[in-house]
Amino acid sequence: MNSSETQYDVVIVGGAAAGLTAALYSARRTLSTLVISKDIGGQASITSEIENYPGRGLVDGFELMDDFRKQSEKFGARIVIDEVTRVTPKSETSFEITTVSGTTYSAKGVILAFGLTPRDLGVPGEAQFKGRGVSTCVTCDGPLYKGKTVAVVGTGLPLVDGAELMIKIAAHVYAVEKKQKFVGEKAMIALVEAAPNVEKLFSSEVTEILGDQKVTGIRVKNSVSGEEKNIAVDGVFTELGYIAKTDCVKGVIELDGENHIVIDEKNATDVPGVFAAGDITSVSYKQVVVSAGEGAKAALSLYTYLQSKGVIARGVNIDWGIVKA
Ligand SMILES: Cc1cc2nc3c(=O)[nH]c(=O)nc-3n(C[C@H](O)[C@H](O)[C@H](O)COP(=O)(O)OP(=O)(O)OC[C@H]3O[C@@H](n4cnc5c(N)ncnc54)[C@H](O)[C@@H]3O)c2cc1C
Repeated sequence: MNSSETQYDVVIVGGAAAGLTAALYSARRTLSTLVISKDIGGQASITSEIENYPGRGLVDGFELMDDFRKQSEKFGARIVIDEVTRVTPKSETSFEITTVSGTTYSAKGVILAFGLTPRDLGVPGEAQFKGRGVSTCVTCDGPLYKGKTVAVVGTGLPLVDGAELMIKIAAHVYAVEKKQKFVGEKAMIALVEAAPNVEKLFSSEVTEILGDQKVTGIRVKNSVSGEEKNIAVDGVFTELGYIAKTDCVKGVIELDGENHIVIDEKNATDVPGVFAAGDITSVSYKQVVVSAGEGAKAALSLYTYLQSKGVIARGVNIDWGIVKA
């Protein structure tokens, strides 16, 4: 890889609502912009129906995120699929970003927009069979289990949501809920409870995912009776909600008690030159439109910051609004 492929004005970690909007604004300020992301679209892309993104009516989340991608690329942002393992400040205008693939990128400024990550069950077999029967996304992978037997494992609203989708697709669904009953929206719970193809396992936890080449079953423990049994399934959907996974900036950036990145009103973190946006930040509301707006703010703030440090040309004024010339 030559230096033009690894050196950028701005590197953005995360390619979803926040990161792709930041990329659009950064690229339109003519900053060389790289987005490094594990996937395109993040949480929104696994949602088939979004009806509160202004101006789009009812839209498929994957389609909306693909439009975000196209728009940022149209203005010159580059996107690579990879996972960032570390962001290392070298100075106030120089950062090293390393990835799982072993590539090291450098940037004058960084925007952290890596959102939330599905929570793991943390049991034997889970990591081994990820993508081979274990999935964190009913919307994406559910159709692969048409007419098969699956377990939806988790707790609360995510579990009920996942089970409600799978009862329409699979022949048989084990809904494994940690608590003594379903918790969530009443209407959704009623649909799941009335389904003839669902078997409810309350006060139950999966202790192991079984398989050889792919998933063949789960081991389930009842926390009240202590009884453990193996159940044959073709697929396991883990629905445990999302957590902030901030390993790549731990010890570098200030985090709050929930592991979210602390930012000020201009999206600046406590490290000069590092800005953050979207669900991974301490901002209260976790929504596509909020992440997009915060991504735009982070990019504009970083642009102003780099100008103030004299490391980019002054006077670029593309979007409507106040830009320091
Ligand atoms: C099932 C569901 C339904 C929802 N429905 C709605 C809705 O109807 N309306 C609404 O407004 N909001 C909805 N939301 C919330 C909305 O999707 C999120 O608030 C929004 O998408 C967050 O965007 P983000 O860019 O901040 O983060 P995310 O969407 O979490 O994206 C983060 C990105 O960073 C990447 N990433 C993570 N770690 C790394 C790393 N170390 N290196 C590189 N890349 C990394 C991820 O792969 C991902 O692409 C829903 C969420 C879910 C889960």
